Amino acid sequence: MHSPISVSPVWRRPTSPIACRFADRDVDLLVVGAGFQGLSAALHAARAGLSVQVIEAGDIGAGASGVNGGQVIPGLKQDPATLHSLFGEEAGRRLNTFAASTADVAFDLIARERLDVEHSRTGWIQAAHTETALQSAVRRNRQWRALGADVTLLHAAETALLTGADGYRGAFFDRRAGVVNPLALTHELARVATEAGAGLVLNDPVTALFQNGSSWQVETRSGRSLSARKVLVATNAYSDALVPKLAQSLVWLHSFQIATEPLPSEFDFILPGGQAVSDSRRILIYYRRSPDGRLVLGGRGPMRAPQSAGDWAHLQRALHRLFPALAKVAITHRWFGRVAMTPDHLPHLHEPAPGLLVAAGCQGRGIGLMVSLGERLARYAASGDASALPLPITPLRAIPLHRFRRIAVAAQIARYRLLDGLER
Ligand SMILES: Cc1cc2nc3c(=O)[nH]c(=O)nc-3n(C[C@H](O)[C@H](O)[C@H](O)COP(=O)(O)OP(=O)(O)OC[C@H]3O[C@@H](n4cnc5c(N)ncnc54)[C@H](O)[C@@H]3O)c2cc1C
Repeated sequence: MHSPISVSPVWRRPTSPIACRFADRDVDLLVVGAGFQGLSAALHAARAGLSVQVIEAGDIGAGASGVNGGQVIPGLKQDPATLHSLFGEEAGRRLNTFAASTADVAFDLIARERLDVEHSRTGWIQAAHTETALQSAVRRNRQWRALGADVTLLHAAETALLTGADGYRGAFFDRRAGVVNPLALTHELARVATEAGAGLVLNDPVTALFQNGSSWQVETRSGRSLSARKVLVATNAYSDALVPKLAQSLVWLHSFQIATEPLPSEFDFILPGGQAVSDSRRILIYYRRSPDGRLVLGGRGPMRAPQSAGDWAHLQRALHRLFPALAKVAITHRWFGRVAMTPDHLPHLHEPAPGLLVAAGCQGRGIGLMVSLGERLARYAASGDASALPLPITPLRAIPLHRFRRIAVAAQIARYRLLDGLER
């Protein structure tokens, strides 16, 4: 029997209380958005001695941080050699060192701060579904191993054993990666940030942001107003018109997810080691087990907001293609969120005016990245030293014909889906 459908993610929210507070005087750093980025920046800035206020439009985890797949994967979308050639020897090396460390930073934070977050660090399998994809895995493995990373290649049989799915040619296996409960991580980051002294206000969008002499003034929908020396706009894929051109510098897509009911022991062959998996398709599918034993699977969804359970049907088909034994298992949860893409597939850092900081565009791989970037942005806000940042600060540029870009991307996704289907 199928249980009723929920549109909330399956992740447990910790019950530890979070004390919300609004600053009664000017602050050093005001953070707009309480996701991984904003909360990590708030925590580290408060620990560095700055007075900090976070303002969030919704509840904790209302953005991508609370609804994502919880796969903590180091590295950026581009392989180390590509980053080297894009940025040159010195900046490329610094960026690769940063990219290699992002999962460490997230897992170390969980351990050091004793966060109440279900997590395991059993690695990430990037499963190759074609010979070409396997050759990319070989190259990726070679490049990361040359940098000393704990990665390896898996044969087809090993991949089948670890995933429980047949048909993969082999895989790139990254032991630095793992899985977390992302909602718990967001909640717990909010808790430790507030305990470190940061003020936090929820359900009150920032509606205006303007320069006032050498400081910044923000106003919220409920009428709050605050002056800050510096502002970090950590709104990422949920950016609105607060910073001119920011929303137009990104293309946001929907990532959709489904979760099965908790699986009985007859399905213990699916991800027996608890790894995270992404496949190598152009429109990739990613999956993992949840702490309560469900299979959680995600992938791109329609560009528009979903209208019925049918909008998740492609994920259900992928689930059954990978795991035919799950055909009769109930899908209990369906949900979605936004992912921010940039034209060069790199995260972008901007400072459109002195003291106004923006980081956005994680291309769907933002847990380790945004926790780490938040820490670096806090260092930059405290010191003004741009060498704290792993990427150069670039001008904020709207994508030409932005309005039509989403249509073009939708067409591209449809084409890729077709090509992926032909390679099955
Ligand atoms: C379905 C899905 C699955 C994903 N899976 C993975 C995964 O498995 N692994 C991984 O590494 N990454 C994954 N990602 C990407 C990852 O979740 C994001 O990169 C990351 O959460 C971004 O964090 P953030 O803090 O920058 O932004 P967000 O968490 O999106 O936070 C931005 C916040 O800004 C707030 N905001 C917006 N406007 C205002 C305003 N005017 N005033 C106040 N607040 C405002 C929003 O409410 C929101 O809470 C996934 C994303 C989605 C959507």
